[in-house]
Amino acid sequence: MSRVTLGDFDITLVRADFYWWDGGAFFGVVPKTLWVKRFEPDPLNRIRLGFNCYVIRTGDHSILIETGAGDKLDRRARVRMRLPEAAPDLREILAGAGIDPDTIDIVINTHLHFDHCGGNTSLSNGAAKPAFPRARYYTRRGEWEHAHTRHIRDAVSYIDANYDPLVESGQMQLLDDDCEIAPGIAVKRAPGHNRDMLAVTASSAGRTFCFFSDLIPTAAHVTPSWVAAFDLFPLQAIDTKIRWLEEAARGNWLCGFAHDPEVAFARIERAGQGFVTKTP
Ligand SMILES: [Zn+2]
Repeated sequence: MSRVTLGDFDITLVRADFYWWDGGAFFGVVPKTLWVKRFEPDPLNRIRLGFNCYVIRTGDHSILIETGAGDKLDRRARVRMRLPEAAPDLREILAGAGIDPDTIDIVINTHLHFDHCGGNTSLSNGAAKPAFPRARYYTRRGEWEHAHTRHIRDAVSYIDANYDPLVESGQMQLLDDDCEIAPGIAVKRAPGHNRDMLAVTASSAGRTFCFFSDLIPTAAHVTPSWVAAFDLFPLQAIDTKIRWLEEAARGNWLCGFAHDPEVAFARIERAGQGFVTKTP
């Protein structure tokens, strides 16, 4: 099930693509003997994941959360992730899911790693043009500033053509604070994966959908100590994750994950010291 109705909202999972990434990097200090029960690695220890985007249609707005990896990765990177040689067009994927890409009027990037904002723009004769010309784009100012520091730890995650043209033209708004972007659609800083990553909630008629982004990249990561090796602040990630999962369990939220290759929507339940996902 990749589409649900939640109050007055219609929410659709759109996978920009599947990709393969090192399983050890995804599960950090978790022994392979444990994570291998959830993900079967290929001979290079890579596991299959998704570039998950969600579209929320509220009646007044069509909001796209994340835009996948886009068309700016070089051949080596595409081979490393087992991506097809030519990047698929997110606009066509949206159309195939019954969503007219020209109706998208809001794009939210939870952060600016290439796998979350690569489809913001597309290359045409070497120039990055907005893929969603009608949309206002949003991300956090601190994340955009961090991207430009090019710290050696995570510089590889940032491709300026995915966001700088939009910032320069004024089409992307850099947020300083948690806020409501449209009625019922809220973004809130959820630090851990990095300092300024946002989580997104959509609430209508007493029901809430939450996109955890890379705070909980797959359903397997609801176990609080299962934190990816590439998270910049792992202890903070655990604390933030527990807070959000407690709220999700209490509120019977419907939840979406940034990279789960199968689960589109899940509920969260407490189980002992941890949490489990349940199909909605
Ligand atoms: Zn990611």
